[in-house]
Amino acid sequence: MIKRKLVLSFPENIVTKPITYRLVKEFNLEFNILRAEITPNMEGKMLIELKGDKAQIDEAIKYLNQTGVTVQEAVKDIITDKNRCVDCGLCTSICITQALVLDDRSHKLKFNKDKCILCELCLDCCPVSAIKVHI
Ligand code: SF4
Ligand code: SF4
Repeated sequence: MIKRKLVLSFPENIVTKPITYRLVKEFNLEFNILRAEITPNMEGKMLIELKGDKAQIDEAIKYLNQTGVTVQEAVKDIITDKNRCVDCGLCTSICITQALVLDDRSHKLKFNKDKCILCELCLDCCPVSAIKVHI
């Protein structure tokens, strides 16, 4: 029995299909949704933890890819380097879950880890490389 933490991206045309239900029913996996978000253009992002036999998890990932879901291994953590960040706000426009926002009063960057789905979209946008993956 192993555990894998994955980020699933659902394109608009399959976002309402019962794909996750089939993961449990057909692959005999324990399935835990840690965070989920649907973007304004209806793309779905989900951070999940799968528990089960390695072979079954591999099969489930194959099935997900075949249905059009993009599967990425979830990195451990996103961190923002306060010493580098210049609070330009660029990353806040990319973060679909609003885990990264500028504080209304101080105009400083705030990072809410509980909202982060580890999609890594913010990693390449920072002009001063203040956003990093902590493994
Ligand atoms: S893009 Fe980089 S510098 Fe700008 S607010 Fe985000 S972390 Fe800070
Ligand atoms: S990885 Fe970055 S862009 Fe994605 S949810 Fe977390 S903070 Fe937002």
